[in-house]
Amino acid sequence: MIVKDLSFSIFIPESMIQERVWQLGQQINQDYVDRSPLFLPILNGSFIFAADLLRTVNLECRVSFVKHASYQGTASTGQLKTLIGLNESIFNQDIIIVEDIMDTGLTLSKVVEELRSLGTRSVEIITLVRKAPARMHAVQPKYIGFDIENEFVLGYGLDYDGLGRNLKDIYKQVPGETA
Ligand code: 5GP
Repeated sequence: MIVKDLSFSIFIPESMIQERVWQLGQQINQDYVDRSPLFLPILNGSFIFAADLLRTVNLECRVSFVKHASYQGTASTGQLKTLIGLNESIFNQDIIIVEDIMDTGLTLSKVVEELRSLGTRSVEIITLVRKAPARMHAVQPKYIGFDIENEFVLGYGLDYDGLGRNLKDIYKQVPGETA
């Protein structure tokens, strides 16, 4: 398959994604029994994963879609610097950050650090895909869909230059092949 100027081949088929997402949902249901977590899916990439995952979760829970703040200048006290769009109170909450893919893990480590410093009860990460470099990082997700090597992937919410988010399967770039 060609997207823009790159070739991609199928990597993780829809059926495998759906099965894994269901398993992750069951783990969360067990781990958070009698809790009421706040899910924070990170836009744009995690919108499809979050929609599928949350339909397997049978806990009382809240969801607030957020974005990384690109500008991290001075913010007034009590305001989040790393995320925008968070309308729920995070004090004493069990937070589950929903990420599409962790590459270096650098972006999320700042988010986790900040959320932990603002009086949350717990902060965990679920990522659909973790790339090899993220395995070396100090901030580790509690839930991981698929561990992959350092390859560029596309589909199921993940884009290449804005394209391909709507694909049902996950594709990987065929190295060296351009359109
Ligand atoms: P990190 O801070 O973990 O290095 O950055 C993770 C972000 O980089 C992801 O949220 C995603 O936007 C982007 N990213 C990293 N690897 C890939 C990839 O293989 N495919 C796509 N589509 N985005 C990626």
